[in-house]
Amino acid sequence: MIYSFAKEDTRKEAFLEVLRSSGVDFELVEHDSAVVRVLGVVTPDLREKLDTVRDGRRSLTLKRRSETDCYSAFTDPNRLAVIAGPCAIESEEQIGAIVDFLSVEGVRYLRGGAYKPRTSCESFQGLGRPGLELLRKHADRAGMYVVTEVMDRSQVETVATYADILQVGSRNMFNYTLLTALGSVQKPVLLKRGMAATVAEWLKSAEYIMRGGNDRLILCERGIRTFEPTTSHTLDLAAVCIAAKESGLPVIADTSHACGRPDLVTPLAAAAVAAGASGIMVEIHPNPAEALSDGKQALTFNQFYRLLEKVTRIHSAIHE
Ligand code: PEP
Ligand code: MN
Repeated sequence: MIYSFAKEDTRKEAFLEVLRSSGVDFELVEHDSAVVRVLGVVTPDLREKLDTVRDGRRSLTLKRRSETDCYSAFTDPNRLAVIAGPCAIESEEQIGAIVDFLSVEGVRYLRGGAYKPRTSCESFQGLGRPGLELLRKHADRAGMYVVTEVMDRSQVETVATYADILQVGSRNMFNYTLLTALGSVQKPVLLKRGMAATVAEWLKSAEYIMRGGNDRLILCERGIRTFEPTTSHTLDLAAVCIAAKESGLPVIADTSHACGRPDLVTPLAAAAVAAGASGIMVEIHPNPAEALSDGKQALTFNQFYRLLEKVTRIHSAIHE
């Protein structure tokens, strides 16, 4: 299991003391922050002690206990739905490490693409069904929900077997046969905004799914194409507010694809939460430099840890 502490986090010493006194092996890597990798078995007793020491950020975990289905966190204004994971599932080792980390942090929604819509046909296209199997297996072991993309109507049945929430990617927001097929799926759908779609077009696409009887939708703003070249896209925060107001649906922000660079993912997520987004989606990777897709925008575990601290504080502040 991996635990991370920001430099200024005073709970680190007490945490290490609990590990030392319980005789469990661990590795400590310190640079701009500290990562503690626990090598020995974490018994439920030990886990409780470690959690007690880290009491400051248990709010996400508390939500875990009262949650009954995967859609309710998106519709309850007192909760913030956090979806995190790699751009693509690459290997058992990669997804295993990510799930170890996220589950300790209390994150409930695991993302990861098995079918990847890549701009270049030469790029890694995803592991397909074996990727879905890995995602499900590790999510189940940690009690997490799976959010993953379905690219084509021919994949709907397969993806719905493994996913809790089916994601429609930006490139497919106008794929009306796919949207229609998702109307009869009994699982929530996360509909990303097309990168060059207006809010009105986005909401029309949502209607295609709802017309089939599936009204458990989550809208996701993921940045739009503008003339600005310093970021991959431009996060349209007004659209988060307008889409929520006009549709009554939960709207979240994917701040990784919205900017394409790690230094902006956290400030944009903070802004989205402050603007009232129902949740955020963020790409993380144990080693972004070696990621098979979107490594340039992925957050490290430490960076994500800090993001979580920030957004949970902002969320609590505006919902007090
Ligand atoms: C993704 O979430 O991995 C993805 C491909 O995003 P988008 O469809 O927003 O580009
Ligand atoms: Mn990606």
